[in-house]
This record gives sequence, C-alpha cells and structure tokens, in this order.
Amino acid sequence: MPPESDPSSAANFPVYEMWWRCEFCGAEALRAKTQRHCPHCGAPQNPANRYFPPESAQTALTEHVYHGPDRLCGACGVANTGNARFCERCGAPLDEARTVVLHRDEANQPNDPPKTSTPPRATSRRGLIVVSMVLGAIALAYFWRDEVSVELIAKPWRHEIKVEQFLIVEETAWCRALPRDARVTHRRREVEHWIDVPDGETCQNQRVDLGDGTFTTRQHCQPRYRREPVYADRCTYTVQRWRSVPSLIAEGQDGDPQDPRIDFTPGTCLGCKRIAGQSQSYAWLLRAEATSRRFECPASNPEWSRRPLHSRGQLAVGVLSRRAHCASLRWETP
Ligand SMILES: [Zn+2]
Ligand SMILES: [Zn+2]
Repeated sequence: MPPESDPSSAANFPVYEMWWRCEFCGAEALRAKTQRHCPHCGAPQNPANRYFPPESAQTALTEHVYHGPDRLCGACGVANTGNARFCERCGAPLDEARTVVLHRDEANQPNDPPKTSTPPRATSRRGLIVVSMVLGAIALAYFWRDEVSVELIAKPWRHEIKVEQFLIVEETAWCRALPRDARVTHRRREVEHWIDVPDGETCQNQRVDLGDGTFTTRQHCQPRYRREPVYADRCTYTVQRWRSVPSLIAEGQDGDPQDPRIDFTPGTCLGCKRIAGQSQSYAWLLRAEATSRRFECPASNPEWSRRPLHSRGQLAVGVLSRRAHCASLRWETP
C-alpha cells in the first residue's frame, strides 16, 4: 500500500483518468490526462475543474508514466506535466511553479467527523433568564421572613437502641473471592465481563488524486472487533453474620424521657442479639400565638430538660414557604 503522504509512490497501482469540465463551453466528462485542451472550444484545461468520474465509468490507463502532479505556469496559468521545465503554452520557466491543488474524493471518505451543531445563542440566553428567575424565587422564599411569637406547648423526645442479631444469612459472590467461613450452597457459570476480540478488518476503497489528470485507488482498512463474554463461577453461600433488626424505641411528648426496655440478654450464640448503638433526640413543639400554627424544632440538652412548658419566644417563619427557621428561636426568659 502506498504511503498517505506521497501519491507518486502509488504509480505502481492501477491508475485511472480523472474527468474535467470546460468552464468556457460547459463540456463535461473530458479526459484530464489525454485531453489537455477542450475538444469543443480549444480552451486549455483548468486543473481546478477536474473531478472523479462515476465508479462505473472509471477507465484504467495501461501505459502511464507518472512525473508527479502538474505544475501551474506562473505567467499564463496553464497546467504543465510534472517534469516540464518550460511552459508548453508561453515558454516561461517552471522552476518556481506551484503544483495543482489535489481533489478530495468526497464520496468515499472514511471516518468523516460527525458534524456537531452548536445550540443557538438565544436558547442559552433564555435558559440563563429562567435559571436566574428560579434562583431569585428560592432566595425570596428563604430570606422573606416574619417574626412570630410562639409558646412551648410540648417537649417531644425519642430514645432509640439499635439492635443486631447473629444470624445465618445468604449471599452471592464470585467463587474465587468468598469469605473464609462461607458454606457454598449453589454454584453456576455467569458472564463476569465482556472483552473486545480482534475480528478481521473493515476495508474501504478510497480514490486519490495524483494531480496529473489521473487518480489511483487505495484501500483504507480498520481493525474490527467483536464482543465476547468472559465467564466465571458465581457462588451462593451462607455465613453467620450480625445483621440489623428493628430498634427498640421509647418516645413521648411529655418532656420526661425514658430508655426503652431491653427485652433480651445480650450474647454471641446463633440467634443472640446485641446492642449496636443508641441515639436520643429532643424537640420543641411550638404554637404561634396569633395563628395557632404549630412548628417543631430540634432541641438539645441540657436546655431541653430545664425549660418549662409554656415558655414564650420569638421564631422567624418564611412568609412564602411557611417553614420555621429554627436557628432563629429566641426565648423571652433566658
Ligand atoms: Zn470548451
Ligand atoms: Zn505559460
């Protein structure tokens, strides 16, 4: 296969004739190598008007000698063969002449980058307006507040003890990575992941302008892959593990917290339970004096235990959201 950068090395491959269009009389399908002048009006061939013939009309040139791409005479603009030293039309020297621009075969280009469309500006500006309106509404809902007088009407509390039980549990995992104490109950083959396996090549013929009124074809190949599954053994097994079971909970509204009663003897036998943690939470239940609306705010000890019912205070409430801003709560008596 000839290298991409140097079309001249393609001369050993089948060579076909390009076509050209006469810009003076409009004649089409003129032969770019053998008809250097228009047979209808005599105008010299303009290499910019060369094009690839339809593939069904490609004619191979049997005796073709390649001298490189044609060069344009700097004085009269006519295309001369690559090895000419003087212009065949006006005789000007061709030492400094530039070569013709090569044509690209638009019909057979592999891997043309997909055209991405950028969204019109108006859309993004409209999006910006919507976002700022939403942000403005959120800010308004948050910062527009009203101070209301509230009364403490209850002191809710909740004590929770988290419990775990030592149980036989069933799990699944890849068999090569089982816990040490696992007792396998079932085993089967499963797809663990997929890999790409080389699977030949996809090739496409590409036509390459040689610049002297001819072109050659070149194969452009890309490796092809197919997806294949990789299997491994999947195990179902049992192990003995501590697992969370429902917590023990005591709760009330009366401000007199108690721990929940523990209804088991902690142990480490199969089926035994143990205490895995505790948590306590306390709250104020407040009533707005003007509207009787109720708000619940988190509280912390020791203030929660100390403060008597019917204490009064001030609380900020969102005018739109109607939610209490609990951090703003201020009691009238310290
Ligand atoms: Zn013509
Ligand atoms: Zn010339």
